[in-house]
Parts: sequence; C-alpha cells; structure tokens
Amino acid sequence: MSRVGIIGGGAAGMMAAIAAAENGHEVYLFEKNEKLGKKLFITGKGRCNVTNASDPDTVFQNVVTNPKFLYSAFYLFSNTAVMEFLEKNGVRLKTERGNRVFPASDKSSDVIRGLERALQRAGVRIFLNTEIKKPVPQKDGSFTLFMANGSKISVDRLILTTGGRSYESTGSTGDGYRFAEAMGHTVVKTRQALVPLTVKENYAAELMGLSLKNVSVTMTQGNRKLYEGFGEMLFTHFGVSGPLILSGSSYSAKWLEKGEVLLSIDLKPALTEEQLEQRILREFEQAPNKMILHVWGSLLPRKMVPVFLEYCGITGEKKVNSITREERRTLIRGLKAFRLTVTGTRGFQESIITQGGISVKEVNPATMESRLVPGLYFAGEVLDIDALTGGYNLQIAWSTGYLAGISIE
Ligand SMILES: Cc1cc2nc3c(=O)[nH]c(=O)nc-3n(C[C@H](O)[C@H](O)[C@H](O)COP(=O)(O)OP(=O)(O)OC[C@H]3O[C@@H](n4cnc5c(N)ncnc54)[C@H](O)[C@@H]3O)c2cc1C
Repeated sequence: MSRVGIIGGGAAGMMAAIAAAENGHEVYLFEKNEKLGKKLFITGKGRCNVTNASDPDTVFQNVVTNPKFLYSAFYLFSNTAVMEFLEKNGVRLKTERGNRVFPASDKSSDVIRGLERALQRAGVRIFLNTEIKKPVPQKDGSFTLFMANGSKISVDRLILTTGGRSYESTGSTGDGYRFAEAMGHTVVKTRQALVPLTVKENYAAELMGLSLKNVSVTMTQGNRKLYEGFGEMLFTHFGVSGPLILSGSSYSAKWLEKGEVLLSIDLKPALTEEQLEQRILREFEQAPNKMILHVWGSLLPRKMVPVFLEYCGITGEKKVNSITREERRTLIRGLKAFRLTVTGTRGFQESIITQGGISVKEVNPATMESRLVPGLYFAGEVLDIDALTGGYNLQIAWSTGYLAGISIE
C-alpha cells in the first residue's frame, strides 16, 4: 500500500483518487478551492456533458491533439465505463443529439455529488482550501508537498491533476505546468482552444447577435486547409463564435500565432453556383423593379442583407433589372464564400480548454507515469491532449484519471 497525494480536485483528480483508494491505497486529495469540481460545475452550461456515447473511432476522431496517447486509458475506462460508474453512484443519465451524455436532472451538481459519494466510500481524505505551492521529489523516491499555509506532507506517489489555464476563476491556473517543469518535464506551449475568434473586418460587429445555421466554413492559411465543418456559427462584437467556430479554433489556434487565417463561409452549402444562379434569376424575374436590397428575403437573414451587399460592392438601392451579369456572379461568389480575416483568439477566460501542456512523450501511456520521475503521474487537461466539444474532454479526464489511479503500486 502506498500513500498517494493528488493535487487538484477536478474531474481527473477525483477519478484518480477513487481508483487509487479502491485499489487499497491511502489517498490524500488536495484542492485549493473551498469545494471540489468548480469547473465541472460550470460544464455544459451547468448541465455537464459527462461523456459522448459514440463508438471508439468517433471518440478518437474528436480528439484533436495526441489521440493515440489516449488508447490504453480509453480502452481501460471507456465512455461506457464512465456511464456505468456514474449510474452506480446514483447519477441517472440521458443521451442527447450527437450522442452527448448528460445527467437526467440536467444538473452538473448531481455529477459532483455522485463523485463525492464514491470518494467517501473509497475512504479518500479530502483537503479543501489547500493549495500546494511546490511538490519536491526526494532522494528516497517520495515527494514532499509544501502547502500555501506553511505546512508540508510526505507522500510515496504523486498524481498531478491541476487542469489547464482556461477559466482561471475555477482554480485552473496552470500550476501543474510549473510543477512539472521544475521536476524536469517539457511543457508544450499552451494556447487557448475551443475559443471565439477575433476578425479584422467590421462586418462581424455589424452582424452582432446573428446566428447562421446550416452553413459550411473553411479556415485556411495560404494553401493550407486548417479546418472544414458544417453547422452553426454566430457573429459577436469582436468577431465570430458558435459551435463551428469553436471547433475551428482548435485546429487554427496554432497557426494564428504565425499570421492571419482566412475564414470562408458558404452561406448556401446545399446549392451549387448554377443552382444559386437559377434561384437568383427567378427572384429577380418576379420583382424586376424592386431595389436589390428588398429581394433577398428567402436567401439571407434580413440583418445580413445590407452587409452582404456592401461586401459585394453593390448599392442596395440599385434596381434588380439593372444588375449586370458580372454583379450577379459577384453575388453568387459572395454567397458561396463570404470571407473574413481571423486575426486571433479571445483570451483564456473565454476558452473552454487549453491546448498544449505536459508533453506526452515523457509520460507512459499505459500507466500515466512520468518517464523521468518514478512515482509521478499525470492526468486530465494538464497533459498535452485536447478534444472538441461533445463530452470528449471530460472523457479524457475520466480515462486518464482512472488509469493513473489504478496504475499506482
Ligand atoms: C465553460 C466550460 C464548459 C465546459 N463544458 C464541458 C462539457 O460539457 N463536457 C466536457 O467534456 N468538457 C467540458 N469542458 C472542459 C472540461 O471541463 C475540462 O477539460 C475538465 O474539467 C478538465 O478536468 P481536470 O480535472 O483535468 O481539470 P480541472 O477540472 O480544471 O481541475 C483542476 C483542479 O485542480 C485544482 N488546482 C490547481 N492547482 C492547484 C494547486 N496548486 N493546489 C491545489 N489544487 C489545485 C483547481 O482548483 C481545480 O479544481 C468545459 C470547460 C469549460 C471552461
């Protein structure tokens, strides 16, 4: 039996603590907040999308960085295992669109309560309001954990589950990166992901609040295609957001550090240019004397029409029967590729996850143990793994947390 210290009482830390304690170890879980799972509480807009019930291939496709590193952890403690675990601990679940799994009550607090029950049953010793300032490996293989209140404790094994840098107010302030670096680990540059994007043009601000459904977006830098997706997006006072944009940000954040990214929106992905031309001609024939500003009702949201015409360089007062063939082509091109220049991402306070983190090259994927410091383990967002929205990021935390906990000898 080992004495195990776990720094961080989020999703990964709680799961690691339960697994290690159920395996017979004496487990100490340190959390600097006054309660466990502060970030978990705000997940899924307070509903907590606990996992995704898709098949393993789909799960791995939704992991953006280092999916292969997750194989062992996922197959040991899969999405099905997470669901069984939660149900066993009194959290009834339901599956929604896109195989997203939520508590039936729509309350993230029920998930936290389920975990707390399991922690208690397993006999984990929980230390709230306890910030670890510095973990120091000792020559005998143990670790001394120095606390902010001046006390210290010695443990045989250490699991770092301090999370990323996003939404710092929940306690995830990047401490784990500093701890790992001090113990010789490499931290891959951290950056915001699943984050809204800022754009250069002022069209976005003019369209603020407008949500576009069933559009396709492509993000490119030079000849490199970074992302392509279909779904919903939103204009904001600073740029763009919404599900499609958040996903796109996970693939473009790295490139935005090198320069601008072109965002091209296909406003009519279901229609070819030829079909659009026929459609526009029909609309024009029905109202030849109307101003162009007034004939777009069926093709574009009303709020977008003046901005779209300005984008195409056509004055809204122009009569339909005086639109030239070339102007018609411009309109069609604009509908198929409404372009904006992405200049950057919003800050960590608005980013759902942190990309980058402790390099997985220095961590054994079969145990989550450090390849550099024996007895040191990692789990959750502190590692250089991240996924798209849909319950995948929590699945990463559950799987890696469980594997780290169960691997302790
Ligand atoms: C708004 C929002 C919504 C989200 N919604 C979803 C969703 O619905 N589904 C999904 O799958 N993912 C979601 N995510 C992502 C998901 O919440 C995280 O990926 C996940 O919580 C990571 O778990 P973790 O345990 O690794 O880290 P965290 O949950 O960040 O936990 C880390 C803990 O460590 C503690 N800590 C840090 N340093 C110290 C220290 N020095 N001493 C003591 N304690 C310390 C922190 O206080 C914190 O409690 C969302 C994220 C956000 C921000």
